[in-house]
Amino acid sequence: MTSIKRIGVLTSGGDAPGMNAAIRAVVRTAIYHHIEVTGIYRGYEGLIENDLFVMDSRSVSSILTQGGTILKSARCPEFRTKEGRATAYKNLKDANIDALVTIGGDGTFTGAEVFSDEYDIPVMCIPGTIDNDLFGTDYTIGYDTANNTVIEAIDKIRDTAASHSRLFFVEVMGRDSGCIALNAGVAAGAEAILMPEKDTAIDELIQMLEEGMDKNKSSMIVIVAEGEKNGGAYHVAKRVKEKFDFFDTKVSILGHLQRGGSPSSFDRILATRMGYHAVKELLKGNSKSTIGFKGNQIVTTPLHVALHSDVFKLDEELLEISKVMSI
Ligand code: ADP
Repeated sequence: MTSIKRIGVLTSGGDAPGMNAAIRAVVRTAIYHHIEVTGIYRGYEGLIENDLFVMDSRSVSSILTQGGTILKSARCPEFRTKEGRATAYKNLKDANIDALVTIGGDGTFTGAEVFSDEYDIPVMCIPGTIDNDLFGTDYTIGYDTANNTVIEAIDKIRDTAASHSRLFFVEVMGRDSGCIALNAGVAAGAEAILMPEKDTAIDELIQMLEEGMDKNKSSMIVIVAEGEKNGGAYHVAKRVKEKFDFFDTKVSILGHLQRGGSPSSFDRILATRMGYHAVKELLKGNSKSTIGFKGNQIVTTPLHVALHSDVFKLDEELLEISKVMSI
C-alpha cells in the first residue's frame, strides 16, 4: 500500500464519449477508499494554469450518461517544455496532489511518462480515444460509441442511396487507424472500405464498383477513413466520377458528430472498470502504466512498453470478410 492521500484527475487530447464515466469511477473509487480527489480542468493546460478544484462524490452526479468531458480537454504545447512541466509540478505540490490519473490518447500518455520520469510522481493512464489505436487494450473508451454513431449514420445514408440508385462516399474519422472504417463498414454492409493501413488504388476500387453494378446493386457505399492515402472522400469521389459519370455520386463527411453523444453501454462499463482499476493500481503502488482491457480482463501495461510497441494491426480477416459480404 502507498501513502497517497490525494489524486488529481484530468482529461487531455481529443475528447471521447465515456470519459465522464471514467472520471466518475476515479472520483468515487478514490473517495470510497478515503482518498481525496482534485479535478484538473483542460488537461495539462489547466495544470500549468492552476485551474484545479476539489471534487466529491456529488461532483460527478449525472455525468455517466453524458458525452464529452466535464473536466474539458485541451492540447497544451507548453507541457512539452521543461519550464511548463516545472510549473505544473509546483501546482500539484501546492495542491497536495500525490498521484495523477490521466485520461486520453498516446500524446497524453507520453506527457504523463515524461512528467513522471522527471518528477517521480505516480501516474496511471486510462485510454480514451475514439480511434481504438492504443497498445495494451483491445478497446479504448469511446470507440464503441463512435462506431455505433457511424453505423447509424451509414444506415440512414443507405436509405437515400437506395431510393435514388446513388453511389455514396462516406468519410469517417481515423487519421492513422482504419478501425472505425473497417468495423463500421462491415456492420453497415459497405461495398468498399478505404483505410490508412492499406493502399487501395483507384483503379482497383473502380473495378470493385463495376462488379457491383454488373450485379444490379441499387446503391453502393464506400467508406473512406480520413487518413486514407488517396486524399479523402472528395478526392476519391471525383476520380471515380470521371469513370462513372452516369452514376449519381455523393459525398458525406461525418466529421465531429462521431465524437459526441451519450456513451454506449459497453463504453460506460469499460470506462467504469478502467477508472476503478486506475485508482486501485495506484493504491497498490503501481505507477507509470496504462490500464487496458484484454480478453474480458482489466490489465496494466508499463508506459514504456505501451508507448514504444506497434499498435494497430489491420484485421486482415475482417477485411476479407467485408469483401466476401459485398458480392
Ligand atoms: P492525444 O492524447 O489524444 O493523443 P495529443 O497528441 O494532442 O492528444 O496530446 C495531448 C497533450 O499531451 C499535448 O497537448 C501535450 O500537452 C501532451 N504531450 C504530448 N506529447 C508530449 C511530449 N512528448 N512531452 C510532453 N507532453 C506531451
